[in-house]
Amino acid sequence: MIESSCHCGILKIQIDAEVPATLTSCSCSICSRYGSLMAYFSSENVKISAVPSSVQKYCWGDEQIAFVRCSKCGCLSHWESLDPKGADRMGVNARLFTNVDIEKIQVRRFDGADTWKFLDK
Ligand SMILES: [Zn+2]
Repeated sequence: MIESSCHCGILKIQIDAEVPATLTSCSCSICSRYGSLMAYFSSENVKISAVPSSVQKYCWGDEQIAFVRCSKCGCLSHWESLDPKGADRMGVNARLFTNVDIEKIQVRRFDGADTWKFLDK
């Protein structure tokens, strides 16, 4: 079980999945500002414990996904799909993992700003 927590502890996530083999550093306009390292999971394996009033969501553009952060400490915990067809997949910010040493996980650079391709092989 992977566990995640924002800084103040209001927003916690439990993920019933293996530690991911890679994390993604994306260069798009929002990920680069957050400095997030994303891991991707099926949403059915991700349990979020936070009351709705304790989180804030941010979406823009075509509003396909919403970025969710703690309303108190501001940590970005994950994004969730707003598209019913894509709702099974979500991205969780591995920087908030509390029981995984993310320094040992390979980081892949994704060119979300331009080509939508990984920059490594
Ligand atoms: Zn918090």
